Amino acid sequence: MRVFERIETLEPEARTLIVTHRMRELLGRAAEGSIVNEIRRFELFTDGRAATIELDHPDLIIERRALIQNLAAEAQRAGATLELGRRFHAMRSNGNGLTVEVERCADGSREEVHADAIIGGDGAASRVARAAGWAPLETVPLMQAIVPLPKDMAPDTVRVWFVPQDTPYFYWLIPESATRGALGVIGESGAETRHHFERFLEKRKLDPIEFQGARIPVYKRWIPVRRKMGSGSVYLVGDAAAQVKVSTVGGIVTGFRGALGVAEAILNGGASRELRTLRRELDFHLLLRRSLHRFEQSDYSHLVDLLNDPAKKSLGEYSRDEAWKILWRVCVRQPRLVLLGLRGLLMRNKSIDKPRD
Ligand SMILES: Cc1cc2nc3c(=O)[nH]c(=O)nc-3n(C[C@H](O)[C@H](O)[C@H](O)COP(=O)(O)OP(=O)(O)OC[C@H]3O[C@@H](n4cnc5c(N)ncnc54)[C@H](O)[C@@H]3O)c2cc1C
Repeated sequence: MRVFERIETLEPEARTLIVTHRMRELLGRAAEGSIVNEIRRFELFTDGRAATIELDHPDLIIERRALIQNLAAEAQRAGATLELGRRFHAMRSNGNGLTVEVERCADGSREEVHADAIIGGDGAASRVARAAGWAPLETVPLMQAIVPLPKDMAPDTVRVWFVPQDTPYFYWLIPESATRGALGVIGESGAETRHHFERFLEKRKLDPIEFQGARIPVYKRWIPVRRKMGSGSVYLVGDAAAQVKVSTVGGIVTGFRGALGVAEAILNGGASRELRTLRRELDFHLLLRRSLHRFEQSDYSHLVDLLNDPAKKSLGEYSRDEAWKILWRVCVRQPRLVLLGLRGLLMRNKSIDKPRD
C-alpha cells in the first residue's frame, strides 16, 4: 500500500482537538501517545444561565501533530510506504484498474502509478472526489484562538456558550493544559463569524496567542463511499465524504470510523457494519442540528433550565458519539425536551438545508 501526502515532512501544524473516549477503542496505541488532557465536565452557558454536565467517561484532548506522527509510524510498521511531498493530481481508468497521476510538490514533476483501488482521505476539498465525479461539499468556517485559560476555569472542564444572535452553532473553550485553552466558534459566513469571534474574545477579555481556522464540511445526507471507475474502485473517507457530526462539527472519530468501514468493505466485498452504524449516527446528528439550528435565545434558556439532574445523567452516561441513545434517555426522563426539539424542527424561518450565499 502506498500513501501519498502533499506535506513535505511529518511536522504538520500543531492543533488540539477534543474527541470522545471512543478514540481509544478505535486507535489504541496511536491515540494514547497523543492525549494531552482529559475532560470530565461540560459547562453550558446561555443568557446568564448555566448548567453542568459531568461525563462518566472523560473526553480526550489530543494533539493532532503527535497523532499524525503515531499513525504514520503504525502504518509503516504495517507495511505501508509513506510518500511525502506528493500530491494526487488526476486519475483515469486503464481497462485493468486505475492510472493515478501523482505530482511532486517540490518541482511539479509527475509520476504515473497503477492501482486497483484508491482511497481519498484528502479533506473537505478532496481532489480525489472531484476526479471520480462526486459533487463538491458545502462547508462552514471554523475559527479557533489559543488563549490563556481564565483563572476561574478548571483544566478538566469545557465551556460552551450558545449565542444564537451570533451563530446557530456555538462558542467553546477547551483547555489543552492548566494554562492554555482553545476558544473557537463555527459560523455560517466567514466575514460575519470573524467579526462575532473578535467581539466575543474582547468581551471575555481573552488575548489570543495564535489563530487557527479552516472550512469544515457540512453533512447533509449520507455520501456513498465507493464509485467504480472502469474495473477500478475509488473510496472516500473522513472530511472528503463529509463524515462530520453536524451537531458539533467534530470529524475525527467519525472519520476514523469511515476509514474502518472502508477497510471492512474492501475485505468483505462491499459490506460494512461500521459504515451502516456510522450512517445512522451521522443522520441522527443531522436531525439534532436541524432542530438546534432553529433555536432562539428563549429556546436555549429553556433547554439549560430543563437540564435537570435525571436528564443530565443521561448525557454523561454515554459517549457523545452515541447520540441516538443519549437523546432517547433524555427524552424518557425529560419529555419537555422532545417538545422543544420538535418546535425547532417545525419552525421554518431558519434552516440548515437552506442554500447560503
Ligand atoms: C481548527 C480546527 C479545529 C477542529 N477541532 C476538532 C475537534 O476538536 N474535534 C473533532 O472531532 N474535529 C475537529 N475538527 C475537524 C477535524 O480536524 C476534521 O474533521 C479531520 O481532521 C478530518 O480528517 P481528514 O483526514 O478527513 O482530513 P484532513 O485533516 O483535512 O486531512 C487531509 C490530508 O490530505 C492531504 N491532502 C489534501 N489534498 C491532497 C492531495 N491532492 N494529495 C495528497 N495529499 C493531500 C492534506 O495535506 C492532509 O494531510 C477541527 C478542524 C479545525 C480546522
